[in-house]
Amino acid sequence: MPETALLKIRLFGDAALRRKAEPVKPLTPRHREILSQMAQVMYAHAGVGLAAPQVGINQAMIVADTGSGLYKLINPRVIKREGRQVLEEGCLSIPGVCIKVKRAGKIKVLAEDELGKTVNIEAEDLLSACLQHEIDHLKGKLIVDYASFFEKLKIQKKLQELKKKAKDEGVPRAETKSCPLQL
Ligand code: ZN
Repeated sequence: MPETALLKIRLFGDAALRRKAEPVKPLTPRHREILSQMAQVMYAHAGVGLAAPQVGINQAMIVADTGSGLYKLINPRVIKREGRQVLEEGCLSIPGVCIKVKRAGKIKVLAEDELGKTVNIEAEDLLSACLQHEIDHLKGKLIVDYASFFEKLKIQKKLQELKKKAKDEGVPRAETKSCPLQL
């Protein structure tokens, strides 16, 4: 695994974002270190969630903080979905793009915490959308995959620009502000 001090957010067009993350097994101190570095990266970019593939690490780990405290989750999966909600979501890996995403309203997530203990999380509203967004990242799925035909037309140019930038280092911070919810 790469040096965590060099964790950089990968941009749309980077193959790392389309890979399916490997389950974490066994859990090592190195994973805990990566999780805490991921949290730092998320806060530094004013995000409320971040998945390991977004920093080029192909492991099933996510962090999230939608205002009710920091979650560091390993091997998370949605085990129950209820209802519907639509939120405008941005993505730290797709700066400047906002997509209306239809997701389950209430969910139950099963995961392990950073000590390997099983955790059950019931989430709704923002936390629910955030966890579903991050778990999507672990499957190589991105918000652009939810875009309607017209949204796709609207963001086409932006995505082309990002693909060109994907090889450059880092994310232009000002651009990430264009959508209030950065995940
Ligand atoms: Zn994202």
